[in-house]
Amino acid sequence: MNIYQDYQDELDRLSEQGNLRSLPHAVYQGKWVVRDGRKMCNLSSNDYLGLAADVSLRDEFLNTIEVEELLFSASSSRLLTGNFSIYDTLEDELAALYGAGAALVVGSGYHLNTGILPAVADAQTLILADKLVHASLIDGIRLSAARCIRYRHQDMEQLEMLLQKYHAAYSRIILVTESVFSMDGDVTDLSCLVAMKKRYPQVMLYVDEAHGVGVYGECGLGIAEEQGCIREVDFLCGTLGKALASVGAFVICSKVMKDYLVNRMRTLIFTTALPPVNISWTLFVVRRLSEWKSRRQHLYRLSEKLRQAIIQSGKPCGSGSHILPFTLGASELAIEKAMDMQQKGFYVLPVRPPTVPEGTSRLRFSLTAALSEPEVDALIQALLQ
Ligand SMILES: *Cc1c(COP(=O)(O)O)cnc(C)c1O
Repeated sequence: MNIYQDYQDELDRLSEQGNLRSLPHAVYQGKWVVRDGRKMCNLSSNDYLGLAADVSLRDEFLNTIEVEELLFSASSSRLLTGNFSIYDTLEDELAALYGAGAALVVGSGYHLNTGILPAVADAQTLILADKLVHASLIDGIRLSAARCIRYRHQDMEQLEMLLQKYHAAYSRIILVTESVFSMDGDVTDLSCLVAMKKRYPQVMLYVDEAHGVGVYGECGLGIAEEQGCIREVDFLCGTLGKALASVGAFVICSKVMKDYLVNRMRTLIFTTALPPVNISWTLFVVRRLSEWKSRRQHLYRLSEKLRQAIIQSGKPCGSGSHILPFTLGASELAIEKAMDMQQKGFYVLPVRPPTVPEGTSRLRFSLTAALSEPEVDALIQALLQ
């Protein structure tokens, strides 16, 4: 008997359903992707402001840093000898930028979401999470001792009903959502969640701003800044690997919460800290975040253009952001359309179950400010042909 047969059968099954995944082999050059000898506009990266593609920015950074500071490893957890002073500087500046009590930086958004929830939610906690929250949040919820109920995507009435029904039965309730949803690009009405939270003393609000940080708000702090409710969010989570062109993630929270997480968050404690060189680069980017307003505005214009085109083509589009779905239904259709777009010079990838619900396979456009308006015009033409 072949011990790997079950796994092979499962792979065959995925392949039959058009859901088999593999690691793409491509060469990335700024806003371009080169694959199979074809040079395409990259419409699938999370480099929303085009900072990762900006060679002159990197050059400038490298000129600010001395070789002694170029540390490629922290060689330890932050709790032991990995807490270089650059970490404290970054956290102090993030906290100040957000006007909050504290900030805590960890290895990635995945570490953040799988670390905070198990640390803060016990068996007397109820987690109310949007049906479409990211896999890392689901994993964090699963690792916690809390009971969890998922409410229908963006259904504030159902959420209110659940709060009314359960608030007396739990010592703590945590509302978990994203500010910009990864797959549909729709934006959450955070002020509505804040209003609900205020009605019950034991409710905390957890907002994953992975796709909001850098892109929205006057200073690029995210949707909570745009909606004027940074202070009301108990856990404002931002990743550094997307618009901020770095690696890692941070949570903006109270001082008490930071101290607590330092004591209880396993994905902070039991892992090597990010290399100081990455933290230096993050700090360099964070210090300029408010300067990149014109990049943000350019991105809004491009997004609106593509959004209008998708709506005119008769597809549903609830997106209010730079992430735009073009829904095709069956996985095969999404794969076919993606291939077609790639042949026309646009690197867009199909998104299929289990990432999105069955029957909603789609192309997912993830726009970046590095694109020009004519490039987006050409993209629209290719898409609607
Ligand atoms: C990308 C993403 C994460 C994970 O962040 P990483 O830093 O890439 O690990 C978490 N939540 C959401 C909503 C994301 O889109």
